[in-house]
Amino acid sequence: MLVKKISYYDEFQCLMGECPQSCCKGWRIPLDDKAIRRFRNEKGLWGMRLRAAMHGKVQPSFSPYCFRCPFLRLDGKCGMQIKKGEDYLAEICRTYPRIRFCPGPYTELQLDLSCVHVAELFLKHQEDQFFVEEESEEEQEQTGDNDDALYLEALEESRRQLTSVMTEASAEGDGEVLNEALKNIVAYAATVQDKMMREGIAEPEALRTGFELSEETEWLPDCFPLPIALINQLMSTDFYQDGMQYVLPLLYKLCRMYYKHFDKLSYEDGEKEWQRLFQKHIAKDPGRVKMYGAYYNSHLLRTYMECYEDYSFLKHTMDGVIGLNVIMLFEVLWREKYGSLSDRDLAKIISVCERRVYHNEVVEKEMMKMIMKEKR
Ligand code: SF4
Repeated sequence: MLVKKISYYDEFQCLMGECPQSCCKGWRIPLDDKAIRRFRNEKGLWGMRLRAAMHGKVQPSFSPYCFRCPFLRLDGKCGMQIKKGEDYLAEICRTYPRIRFCPGPYTELQLDLSCVHVAELFLKHQEDQFFVEEESEEEQEQTGDNDDALYLEALEESRRQLTSVMTEASAEGDGEVLNEALKNIVAYAATVQDKMMREGIAEPEALRTGFELSEETEWLPDCFPLPIALINQLMSTDFYQDGMQYVLPLLYKLCRMYYKHFDKLSYEDGEKEWQRLFQKHIAKDPGRVKMYGAYYNSHLLRTYMECYEDYSFLKHTMDGVIGLNVIMLFEVLWREKYGSLSDRDLAKIISVCERRVYHNEVVEKEMMKMIMKEKR
């Protein structure tokens, strides 16, 4: 089967004990059915340890309160992997941060930026994100049940067009151009979704004609940057919680920086301050616009094809706008406070924001609800 890998896929190797932001902390670790059966059938002391670590009756998980996996050793290595080998682990632990999409005719392999090392690889390869194609003998299980080849082809073409719109816009290094491009992409996604879901227009036609039909962008807020009032609403969803200081201390620190800077300002003064910080940030480093464009493209490459199964065009395009703005907000505040930001620190910021925005269903849903209110 044809396998398409993101250009830096083979460079990934887990940092294990050297990881500055281990994925074995700060998350609930959901267990798959096979792992649950395997763990429940274990005998002796090891079996007892496993059962004590599994929480929840129907779909048990490790670390339900998101502190740390009970098998994570003090040296940062996985005690279960060392004792039993990689094949024994739950599926999520074996595969993370790899993302596999197999619609039938081919397989796409990508990496999730919620892993700090993947975020570092993204920063290193932000200008060369493409798919490397190769034939593989390995059997690939299909990831969904849609088998509409024409829709798949049109969706791939649509993703190719959207990423090239973004690449061209960000190459100009101009925030306003990037803002317009993002608004056009989101308006396109909203139009395509409406045409398919409400008007019953066939998927390939809706995707092909979406750009011609989606002239209206007035209902959309500015996307680069989002207005501070909207960011403030997003931050007041479940995104920020006091308990985060124990499970995601970096994100907690970043949120505290945000509240300290903006809390005492009215929306009007907050917007002026946000625009001041944003303009200063872009003027100091115009190359940043390109990086944000590359980040948005990375988001499209990783999530847009999910529309093949869920038809949620608006969600997948708007999610990226939210992620981009939250990352930019924290980067701007960090630079304002400390003067500079290393690539490793930026990778850490990207990774925690990705965890909170895209891997927390409650936060993701709440954020989308706020954006959709703007559409009405
Ligand atoms: S976050 Fe990435 S590099 Fe760090 S432990 Fe997890 S998979 Fe490994």
